[in-house]
Amino acid sequence: MKNKLALVSLILLGICFQSCYAQSEKQQSEQKNPVYSRTDTTKVNQSEKDWKKILSPEVYDVARLKGTERPFTSKFETSKEIGTYYCAVCGNPLFQSDTKFDSGCGWPSFYQPISKTSIVYHKDKSLGMERTEVTCGRCKSHLGHVFDDGPPPTGLRYCINGVVLDFEKAKTAEKSYTKKQKKATSGK
Ligand SMILES: [Zn+2]
Repeated sequence: MKNKLALVSLILLGICFQSCYAQSEKQQSEQKNPVYSRTDTTKVNQSEKDWKKILSPEVYDVARLKGTERPFTSKFETSKEIGTYYCAVCGNPLFQSDTKFDSGCGWPSFYQPISKTSIVYHKDKSLGMERTEVTCGRCKSHLGHVFDDGPPPTGLRYCINGVVLDFEKAKTAEKSYTKKQKKATSGK
């Protein structure tokens, strides 16, 4: 009997440790990028110093220093998966996969953003060219450029660095959405 009791408490202790560990891991990832949210639409204002701490060097280079990833290197360039593309810096929804097309230019290309507020446009006269730079509507991170040689219905080509994109497949998005809905209605 005593042995059994010891065993049960040992198991309980194990479960507690496990869940505590999982929680601290979750907190860590949240701490790493505290501004990332796919539902929060409030504008993000971080200092460059903070961005450097939060983002990986590859993302920081493109998003904050307006770098360009090497062409044909993004896994999203030829991807045909159905779902939503988010800003990898802040989680802002940017493009739906059904507006993505094969441009052959070497970077993921879309003809239309999700909404008018997804993206902000800026004149870019760098490198002796006149282009239109596109940045994230929530966190102002550099995403890429927009050109007017895209397909109908818009005739636009949003040429986006894949490193600043985050993708979620439609099915998983649906699942996590219903999960959140259930939580929201059952809790509180
Ligand atoms: Zn963003």
